[in-house]
Formats: sequence, C-alpha cells, structure tokens
Amino acid sequence: MLNDLMYDLDIKHAPDAGGHFKANGTLFGGRFAAETLMQPLQEIEQAFFDAWADPKFHAERLDLLKHYVGRATPLYHAKHLTAEVGGAQIYLKREDLNHTGAHKVNNTIGQALLARRMGKNKVIAETGAGQHGVATATVAAMFNMQCDIYMGREDIRRQAPNVFRMKLLGANVIAVDSGTATLKDAVNEALRVWVASCEDTYYIFGTAAGPHPFPLMVRQFHTVIGQEARAQCLAQAGKLPDVAVACVGGGSNAIGLLHPLRDDDIRLVAVEAAGYGLESGEHAAALAKGSPGIIHGSLSYLLEDDEGQVQGTHSISAGLDYPGVGPELAAMMENGHLELDSATDRDALDAFQRLTKAEGIIPALESSHALAAGMRIAAGMMPDQIVLINLSGRGDKDLGTVMDMLGLSCDTQEFSA
Ligand SMILES: *Cc1c(COP(=O)(O)O)cnc(C)c1O
Repeated sequence: MLNDLMYDLDIKHAPDAGGHFKANGTLFGGRFAAETLMQPLQEIEQAFFDAWADPKFHAERLDLLKHYVGRATPLYHAKHLTAEVGGAQIYLKREDLNHTGAHKVNNTIGQALLARRMGKNKVIAETGAGQHGVATATVAAMFNMQCDIYMGREDIRRQAPNVFRMKLLGANVIAVDSGTATLKDAVNEALRVWVASCEDTYYIFGTAAGPHPFPLMVRQFHTVIGQEARAQCLAQAGKLPDVAVACVGGGSNAIGLLHPLRDDDIRLVAVEAAGYGLESGEHAAALAKGSPGIIHGSLSYLLEDDEGQVQGTHSISAGLDYPGVGPELAAMMENGHLELDSATDRDALDAFQRLTKAEGIIPALESSHALAAGMRIAAGMMPDQIVLINLSGRGDKDLGTVMDMLGLSCDTQEFSA
C-alpha cells in the first residue's frame, strides 16, 4: 500500500524568487547575508532546483530513505494513551524510529546528496544538542566525506555522548567560544568559516531557517513526514486528522509534517517551548513572544531584548532552545494558517512519563512538548475525531536530563514507585 509513488514531488507554496514567504505585507525569509556568501548561496539554490527536477536524484534519495533510514515510518494509533486522555483518537507519526533516532536525517541525506552532486567533498554543520551534528556526521561517514561540526563549548560540555558519537563517525568537532558558546554562536562561526572555504565545502544547515534557499530546501526534504502521515491516516483511519501538532525549535519537523496538510481542512498547531512559563522570560517561544527581525540570514520572528540583542533562551530540551524560528512558520502564523501553542518544561516532563508508561514509547523531550499540547487538545474533542502528533525523536539522549529533573539515580529504590 505504501510505496515510493505516494511522494508528491511538486513544490507547493513556494516562496518568491528572493526566498520570501509573504504575510500581511511582510516579506519573511529572504537572504540577508554578507556579500561573499551571496554567490555560494545562489549556487546551492541552482543546484537544488536542478536536483529537484531530476528523477535520478529522487530515486537515490528515496532509496536511501527506505533502506538506510527505514522509511516509511509507521503511523501508530496510541489507543492506551487515547483511553487515558479521553477525547479524540491520538495518532503518533513515528519519526523516532528513523536511523539516528529523529527526523533530522531526512534533511542531512538530501543535502549530502546535493553536496556530492555539486562536487564538494567536505561538509560542515552547526549543532546545539548534537542531534544535527550526529545526523550530519552519519551521512558524511556513509558518503565518505570529510566533516567538521561547529559546536558551542558549553554544549560540548553538556552533550558528551553526542560529541563522542560524532568523533566515532569520523567528524572533527570544533569548539566555539564566542557569545554564550551555544547554538546561535555555532551557526555564526560555521557561516564565517564557510565564507572562506565554500570552494570545496558544503554547509549542511540543520533546520528550516537561515538564508534562502535553506528554509525551502530543508522543508522539501522533510515533507516526506506529512505526505506519509496523510496517506497513512487515510488508509488506517479512513479519514484525515482534524488536528496536526508538532513542536518547534527552528521549525523543520513542524513544517515537514504541516506543509503537506496545508491545503486540507485541518487545524495546524505549532508548539513552542515555554520553559519556566511564557511570562517568566525564560523560554524559547519566538513566535508567541518574539518580534520580526533578522537572525542567521533571514527575516523571521526572534527573541530580542530592548537593545535589539538576541535574547538568551531556556528550555528543558536542547533541540528547542533556539531564539529564532523558520520564516515560513512565521508567515503561516501571520496569515492565520497556524495555531500557536506551548508547553513548559514541567508539561513536557509529564508528557514524557505519560507516553512512556501508557504505550512503552520513550519520546524525545522536544517531542514531549508536542505530546503535552496534543493531549490537552485531544481531551477537549470527540472520540470520532483525530489528533495527529509528530513524535520527532526518541528519548534515549534525554535520560540523564530526566533523571536529574526527577531527582532520581539508577541505584535508588524510587524507580519502583
Ligand atoms: C532538533 C530536534 C527538534 C527541533 O528542531 P526542528 O527543526 O524545530 O524540528 C525537535 N525534535 C527533535 C527530536 C530534534 O532532534
């Protein structure tokens, strides 16, 4: 029933030629980059449109997604969780079952194929928690490419297992000391290095943000998520979902799920990290609490202080701890196509435990934000309705954080409670 033919390769709702997503007179996206980056970005744009029109590119991409990544990922009817929550039927799109444990590899496979097509033998990438770094180092190993990963020194300290994974995979992990030594600083450094090395180096950007064509390209590589989920829901439930829910860091898993559902009569919900609470000032809710501005080469919502400095963010999940958001989600929100929701650290931790106990699935803390909001929404709906939640990743990487938050350790009695 599910085969490669289900993937619709048309580019729908494309931005304009300058990479702008329009909303109420505002042009989100674009390409706000140093003069020296304009040409390499144009070359990527050209190569991307060439590749996207080439059936051989898709044949190889879809073959790798099937046999290397393990797609199509299942759509799982979470009956036990549904019964517990009471309300709409909850369906989970199982991106946690992808190779490397999250959706990110859909994008790194696509961009690595593009890099090879452009004749580049070296790739670089930024990473925060290390998930995009691992997904990049993984495909670099498989394609036999040299790989440098830029990572804030603070993140290197916090994410030791992922640093070790990247090194095992053959990548160089380069510490970034500027700013707060976290993700936004790693992006700045990777962009700076890329300017000087773009002759032989391709920059694999990790989310649906950054300068054009990255928001469009990353979206296209992730639309497999929503296209599969749409067909699977029709096949398994006999109808489309009423609501689709995804968490938002930079916005790649959200746009991947939601974009292919845009032309249907479905409520599209983006869930941001509310950290200690939206009113606490310690969160990562760029859409809910930010304002339009320029970050990492494009115009979108971002969190800034009164002086226009990018604000520090907080979330229990490193993958959502980013002060910006992709321009297309910003435009969809402005245009009224996107509903905003949020979940606090505490909500996410509760949802993490609830799914684990009810279904035997340990979700990533990022995905737990989508779950928390999705369960809340489902509770207010009817049993003949469907809430589709994107389970963007698995929670193995988060066990240490959860153990600390719950005040547990492996050798206490508390686990029997
Ligand atoms: C990186 C990550 C996210 C957030 O990134 P998006 O680009 O917003 O999707 C969400 N979930 C998981 C599991 C991740 O690894």
